[in-house]
Amino acid sequence: MTAFETCDLLLCARWVIPIVPEGFCLEHGALAIAQGKIIALGTQTQLRARFQARETIDLPEHVLMPGLVNAHTHAAMSLMRGIADDYALMPWLNEHIWPAEAKHVSPAFARDGVRLAIAEQIRGGVTCMQDMYFFPEQSAEVAIEMGMRAAVGGAIIEFPSAYANGAPEYLAKARAMLEHYRNHPMITPILAPHAPYTVSDQSFTALMQLSHDFDARVHCHIHETAFEVEDSIQQHGMRPLARLDQLGVIGKNLTATHMTQLLPAEMERLAEASVSIAHCPESNLKLASGFCQVDRALKTGINVALGTDGCASNNDLDMLGEMKTAALLAKAVAGDATALNAAQALTMATLGGARSMGLEQSIGSLEIGKQADVIALRMDELDALPVFNPISQVVYANHRRQVSDVWIAGRARLRNSLFVDIDSAAIAANARAWGKKISERNS
Ligand SMILES: [Zn+2]
Repeated sequence: MTAFETCDLLLCARWVIPIVPEGFCLEHGALAIAQGKIIALGTQTQLRARFQARETIDLPEHVLMPGLVNAHTHAAMSLMRGIADDYALMPWLNEHIWPAEAKHVSPAFARDGVRLAIAEQIRGGVTCMQDMYFFPEQSAEVAIEMGMRAAVGGAIIEFPSAYANGAPEYLAKARAMLEHYRNHPMITPILAPHAPYTVSDQSFTALMQLSHDFDARVHCHIHETAFEVEDSIQQHGMRPLARLDQLGVIGKNLTATHMTQLLPAEMERLAEASVSIAHCPESNLKLASGFCQVDRALKTGINVALGTDGCASNNDLDMLGEMKTAALLAKAVAGDATALNAAQALTMATLGGARSMGLEQSIGSLEIGKQADVIALRMDELDALPVFNPISQVVYANHRRQVSDVWIAGRARLRNSLFVDIDSAAIAANARAWGKKISERNS
């Protein structure tokens, strides 16, 4: 008789969607996890015969898939959910968001906001986020405390804030983050220049030197609106992408967020340089910023990731909802119902996001050797039945409340729809207290 191999956790699910190969779904599948990593994927019959598991969990009406990767957010801004709705980008920033941030943002605001954002995301099946905000030290610490994986970058911007006096100080703090978190198992430090219109040539040059020295990724809002492009032509005599290309920013380490204004030649250039796009369809819709031509970008060979953006422009961090919006919007924009099919949308929300953080070797799909960032979704709710194609169901008919279980690096964060070691009542009480404080000072 052959001896059993051991594993910490054996997950047996009705359907397993590994993401690689794209569009594949394994029926009655199983996943074996040991020391936080995936060590086997197969049918339940195969893996039950092969492994003696410390714990076996049956998920008889569930889809098992990799955790969702939110490729672009400003987590702390969850405390500003709904603070200023129904404005265009520039009045929204200039008259509402930036003044509110000047009044309220502090290390305590960042900590409490990021806690709220991470709890919301874990509840909705997100296991990794790419964050850009002030006080990234707080974001990283809270992510570690809550067992969330994160790529974290402090915003780099020319104007002063509670976090730094100006670009040199933002850059010095960014450098300290890169040094502190290099090789950390849960935190990937990145550089996060806010946008071409808020960062000078000199600061871009300095941060690209840091990117080069630390092989750090660069995450930036680019071509969010037509106004941004026109403004750059007025100020610099060229489009923002052309300016960034001259400054050496366009390269394999860049993730360009939004990209609603793209000429065919610019798409070719991004593909050739292996730039990733972080697509935020709901934020773009809400701020009427424009539409990213996702289908065309994918056909040109560009990696496209999916993000919710911050809560002040969305107003949630719901990646399942974002996926459906992305798939529907891509069809409308391309005038083609075959554009961005369900399997492609799912790849964008998982492996695409992992690639945009340089983490494609460790997360984004269920493959042997990768981190066990895994989620389960119930498929037996009335509004998810019957199930013909689980991949279509996840993208077009699922709601995030159907997420039942979440493991990050093999550690349970949500079981049977309940948080594990996360005090959601305390997080909610804090969010209410901040809401009260912000409305009092604003009135
Ligand atoms: Zn953003």
